[in-house]
Amino acid sequence: MILLKDGLIVPMAGRRAVKGSVLIDGNRIKEVGEVKEKVDAEIDCRHKIIMPGLIDTHIHLAQALLRGCADDIPLVRWLNERVWPLQSTYDPELGSLSAELCIAEMLLSGTTTFLESGLHTKYGIDGIARVVERSGMRGYISKMLMDSPYYANHRMYEGMVEDKDEAMKEALSLFERWNGKGGIRVALAARTHCTPELYREISEMAETLDTIATLHFCEIKEDVSFLRKEYGMSPVEFLEHCGLNNERVTLAHCVWLGDAEGLKANVAHCPASNFKLGSGIAPVKEMLDKGVNVTLGCDGAPCNNTYDLFRDMWLASIAQKARLLDPQVLDAHNALTMATINGAKALRIDSGSIAPGKLADVITIDLKPHLMPVRDPASTIVYSAKGSDVCDVIVDGKVIVENRELKTIDVSKLMDRVEEKGLLPDRLAHFL
Ligand SMILES: [Zn+2]
Repeated sequence: MILLKDGLIVPMAGRRAVKGSVLIDGNRIKEVGEVKEKVDAEIDCRHKIIMPGLIDTHIHLAQALLRGCADDIPLVRWLNERVWPLQSTYDPELGSLSAELCIAEMLLSGTTTFLESGLHTKYGIDGIARVVERSGMRGYISKMLMDSPYYANHRMYEGMVEDKDEAMKEALSLFERWNGKGGIRVALAARTHCTPELYREISEMAETLDTIATLHFCEIKEDVSFLRKEYGMSPVEFLEHCGLNNERVTLAHCVWLGDAEGLKANVAHCPASNFKLGSGIAPVKEMLDKGVNVTLGCDGAPCNNTYDLFRDMWLASIAQKARLLDPQVLDAHNALTMATINGAKALRIDSGSIAPGKLADVITIDLKPHLMPVRDPASTIVYSAKGSDVCDVIVDGKVIVENRELKTIDVSKLMDRVEEKGLLPDRLAHFL
């Protein structure tokens, strides 16, 4: 048992913040508030906020090494001239190294669960799964599925094109070998744009395997005109047509979704990525008003350029205020709900709040001068805090980060390896 003692608890799920302790028994939360029980392991939480771990519903593990490699260019060129050519040179060693760098950053900034949006075979997916397992993090890995070498009207970078049948086989085998191992679950991921037939196949497979599916959707304006031209359908009509309009599906971006009426799939809003790539500002307020489950994602290092979900909570909130000229929309509490409760719902995981019986995915925030005084903890967390303020991280009842020390990854050795292998200098020279 572990006791998080005497902190300011932000429980979420409609409950008010309270001063007190959180008792963890095994991988579940046992008691919240005044805890009398004596335990061996205590974490002193005076001057700390205790809150649910953050849930990132859209990341690319293999893009951490591409930080700074594709700044300040629009999406199609970003993909075709930088990200895909560079990723096409990956081998399993680079794939694992990138995943480890990404996971170290996520854990140290308070993210306890992630949804990977689709890995290429050449990254060495088994190696990446082993990195996730060793890290103690909770996450969905996924094999990217595709049946068209195009992104809208643009031919994809040749080195990233994969065979549909081979990819499907690999996705199934990945599921059989890794789903449920440690904190790992296996999702299905689809490239943009696949044929409706493949999307339907993926949707049925998700149902059969009782897992989730994810894809990038309506990220840029061109995605919508493509659907209109090819299928004569609106985005929501197209999802319905492909069997993707359901709660097992998480759609990344949805900047140009238009009217969200009837949308049942979850949305992974990725503000930093959308703003930096000049893709636009997603109509998050309207989606929430229509009852859509909107969650948050960091996307990847070449577009964000961090995996710090605190930044995206802050951006998600202030962007809607600026877009609608209304400071009352998407307040700090709503942004925090997107990164916790809504994320847990989309990923079908029993976490996202602090209450007896919930999975023990809990983080603490050190109340440093820039966070004091605390008037409304949601305001402190969303408007003032950064990932680097996270002090302790507990995933599935295990202390993974204690007093900012990551216990499952040797960060100093990781930095040496990233410096040695990760700068991709010869590969970069080709493009820059
Ligand atoms: Zn993405």
